[in-house]
Amino acid sequence: MISLTNIEKVYRTDTIETLALNSISLDIAKGEFLSIMGPSGCGKSTLLNIMGLLDTPTRGQVQIADQPTQHLNDKQLAHFRNKKIGFIFQSYHLINDLKVLDNVELPLLYRHSAAKERRLLATAALEKVGLSNRIRHFPTQLSGGQKQRVAIARAIVGQPEIILADEPTGNLDSAMGHEIMDILLTLNKTEGTTIIMVTHDEIMARKTHRLVRLFDGTQVQ
Ligand code: ADP
Ligand code: ADP
Repeated sequence: MISLTNIEKVYRTDTIETLALNSISLDIAKGEFLSIMGPSGCGKSTLLNIMGLLDTPTRGQVQIADQPTQHLNDKQLAHFRNKKIGFIFQSYHLINDLKVLDNVELPLLYRHSAAKERRLLATAALEKVGLSNRIRHFPTQLSGGQKQRVAIARAIVGQPEIILADEPTGNLDSAMGHEIMDILLTLNKTEGTTIIMVTHDEIMARKTHRLVRLFDGTQVQ
């Protein structure tokens, strides 16, 4: 589903050059649930951003759903991303002055789906994360775990083949973290969604199919 070949990422400023990723090659199968661990600054977010087509590597190839991506222009990349990939972040990234339902509809707005269809799909996504009773709330009226469930609903509303999650349980207490993890595991199992998750939590990582460890931009496991 995702194939990375000899990925290298160098960040350059006037005076400093940082080798953030050093020759990473990784094949992630359809339906796989992979976690990525490693100390702060080892390149986890950079790797996730490259997989999500939010950033481009300095060297190497990125193939998503059997399609090479290096020749796509910005507009094509955005379109591809919207169709294939759902994102979840540690700090939820919800829009606070939009109701829960409208937050979840956002990715569909970009696709120009009709209003009725948007409503239907968003309602179904919120049902999947167990939040049907909060659709008219605003994000500020929700607990952290509920906010992350809204974010998951927004990530899955367009039925993406891939979900990229950057420390999805990082801001949550253990019980809520496990709730969120259970939703992701169910999604992976029942819908076959390929999930790549960055985490600092060994217990969460152990629940996934495979663990990749980075150290200083290099894959060490
Ligand atoms: P992690 O997610 O594992 O904490 P990152 O992928 O954010 O690590 O960062 C990897 C390395 O690249 C770090 O050394 C960081 O300082 C550097 N880095 C990340 N983003 C930038 C940037 N925009 N400009 C320069 N250096 C960056
Ligand atoms: P938790 O203890 O799980 O963090 P909270 O105490 O924050 O949860 O919230 C308990 C319930 O009250 C939640 O289901 C949330 O939706 C609701 N709630 C919290 N704050 C507000 C608010 N300002 N307006 C309306 N409902 C709220």
